[in-house]
Amino acid sequence: MPLGIYVHLPFCPYICPYCDFVKWPMRASAAASYLAALERQTASAPSEPAATIYLGGGTPNAYDASTIGALLERLQAKFPPLRDSREISIECNPELVRKGDFAAYRSAGVNRVSIGVQSFEPSEIRTLGRKHTTDDVERAVAAARRDGIGSVSLDLIFAVPGQTPESWRRSLTTAIEIGADHISAYGLTVEEGTPYAAWRQREPASFANDRLEAELYDIAIATLEAAGYEQYEISNFARPGHCSAHNQNYWANGEYLGLGVGAASYRNGVRSVATRSLAAYIEAVLKEQPVPSESERLEGEARLGEAVMLALRTVQGVNVAGFKGRYGVDVLARFAPVVEAYEETGMLEVAGGFLRLTRRGRFVANDVCEAFLPST
Ligand code: SF4
Repeated sequence: MPLGIYVHLPFCPYICPYCDFVKWPMRASAAASYLAALERQTASAPSEPAATIYLGGGTPNAYDASTIGALLERLQAKFPPLRDSREISIECNPELVRKGDFAAYRSAGVNRVSIGVQSFEPSEIRTLGRKHTTDDVERAVAAARRDGIGSVSLDLIFAVPGQTPESWRRSLTTAIEIGADHISAYGLTVEEGTPYAAWRQREPASFANDRLEAELYDIAIATLEAAGYEQYEISNFARPGHCSAHNQNYWANGEYLGLGVGAASYRNGVRSVATRSLAAYIEAVLKEQPVPSESERLEGEARLGEAVMLALRTVQGVNVAGFKGRYGVDVLARFAPVVEAYEETGMLEVAGGFLRLTRRGRFVANDVCEAFLPST
């Protein structure tokens, strides 16, 4: 089973009001201490081959390109490729891209960049607390191309307060015209404890209702499919040959090792998430103690339910024969009541040896997927 390596770089130039990720505003001293701890954690991890490496955040390119290059060199020495070539990705904020960054990333092995755009509409960008312009994104994509990055992905968000079907269509069209190889289109989720949660409490009418959100999602699928992007997961669309191998490994219930504060891992049937405390993370690593984490062994029904839930996120769905081969269970028989109930409502279908969400089912994917998990 191929292994994916995820490395969390949690510093950002500023904090967006909707964000629930593990992140802090960039401060040079904290960023340097964190990097030292991350290098220590990498050095102490057992060496093993990995199929993908993904630098996420936070904002990885808040670090300068030479720092990223040195980090990648250590990671690649510790986790050699399984095959000659492999996917190495980095998330980037477009307004922080400096001349020569992508060339440096490329020579450090990066072949995929994921640019956090969220919207091309100035008013929505302001609402999201972001500061880039369309020019920043165009410049970043052009630089990535010029410097030989083989795959460029853009992240977009729908159901932003104030967004309309027309403005969403314009953002999608701009992303297509800019020539993205891959587009992630995420529905806004309002997480408790964020400034957005307080805003929604005060002014619920500012936020999209379910009907508008479904309409916006439908526009994304129709617009991107018409432009030659294949939807391969609930939120992800790719031109041929540009699916994210790192994320596909998650949905295949593959193994991954997360390095850094708040990073998640899944190894030998155990899912764990590292502490979200920067101080606790740094202290543990520097004292050569285990990083404080919450872990859970996935067994029995929980393991099966998780595997079905992840595979249902993909447009292909659950390979019924493959599932039997891997887990020794006939998914259609084991989950017959759930499968039948959602087939009847038109949310799930069984066809060609696969159990999958219908197009309508993708709108309520979370509810359908959760029905496969044991109740707690
Ligand atoms: S840049 Fe990304 S990680 Fe940082 S605060 Fe904004 S949404 Fe969160």
